[in-house]
Amino acid sequence: MKIKEIRLQCLKMKMKYPFQNSISTVKAKEFYIVSVVNENDKTGYGETVAFDFPWYTEETVHTNLLALESYLIPLLRGFEFQHPNEISKRFAVVKRNHMAKAALEGAIWDLYAKERNLSLANVLGGTRQEIKAGISLGIQPSIKDLLYKIEAHAEAGCPRIKVKIKQGWDLNVLKEIRASFPTIPLMVDANSAYNLQQIDHLRRFDEFDLIMIEQPFADGDFLDHAILQKQITTPICLDESIHSFEDTRLAINLGSCQIINIKIGRVGGLFEAKRIHDFCLEKNVPVWCGGMLEAGIGRAHNIALASLPGFTLPGDIGGSSHYWEKDIITPEVIVQDGRIQVPNESGIGFALNEETIANNLIEEKIITF
Ligand code: MG
Repeated sequence: MKIKEIRLQCLKMKMKYPFQNSISTVKAKEFYIVSVVNENDKTGYGETVAFDFPWYTEETVHTNLLALESYLIPLLRGFEFQHPNEISKRFAVVKRNHMAKAALEGAIWDLYAKERNLSLANVLGGTRQEIKAGISLGIQPSIKDLLYKIEAHAEAGCPRIKVKIKQGWDLNVLKEIRASFPTIPLMVDANSAYNLQQIDHLRRFDEFDLIMIEQPFADGDFLDHAILQKQITTPICLDESIHSFEDTRLAINLGSCQIINIKIGRVGGLFEAKRIHDFCLEKNVPVWCGGMLEAGIGRAHNIALASLPGFTLPGDIGGSSHYWEKDIITPEVIVQDGRIQVPNESGIGFALNEETIANNLIEEKIITF
């Protein structure tokens, strides 16, 4: 396959509800749609997932553009390939910039699937017809607001509730949740809000029968996570720590966690995400698909990835209407009884909603080879 044109469209979309974690509040999401056109005029789509401030990893929407335009897209000029597995090797000369790489590689995966008239899930090796859609609830104005949201999602059949926590919004909140919902499948995400000095405080999380505690410590703290995991019964899940297959090997062999959150953007694309999945499956470590407040294209890629057999835990893949007034894809992603159908149509299985894209477009760049 050969690429003949790449389009970069920058959109800024207002979140339906502001999303607050222990570090940041996201009110609007700026991102690039990456459209890759091949010699047969077929088009594949990817989406950048970095935020506009580097609180999650070092990447931002601005560094994504820089990496794409200046370093990654030029590597595809005149490059002929048989399979998208070759792309991450081609990109290896550029260090990190994982979310920029993932957006472009993802578009090529979509294009590859469309060329073969197969679904993206199918070409990745997906085995599920539907995936379990968990919900992630940000820090709310009050505990009452949070309980109200949990009740609504539980009634809608959500298979697990995740709540974001920070110091001062943790044990007190969990106590109230468990008082109202003693058996609901529940997990928490700290986004690195703690450190090893707070180990006695963290031990108390074991009282609340949590499926897992996600990323209690900083991303580089593999050792401290391993020390904590030995002292608590709640499984630790790593998110921000896992940038690659090697990070996954390190975390599992060191005992830093018992569960891995895979995000395509954080690990540099679908090829690496699949490698991590395959390794975890072999090691009997459950994985689930994390979310980056994606619009529809990124969400569609997540659905395809989460159809792989090792994704045994519900992911942070909500329906479009949970995040946006109008999504950039049609049909929108719909959650029914806590489940999302994996599309059978070719590629990502969704068309673009050109009207929503036009209404939120900031700028467009076209690179022809
Ligand atoms: Mg997380």
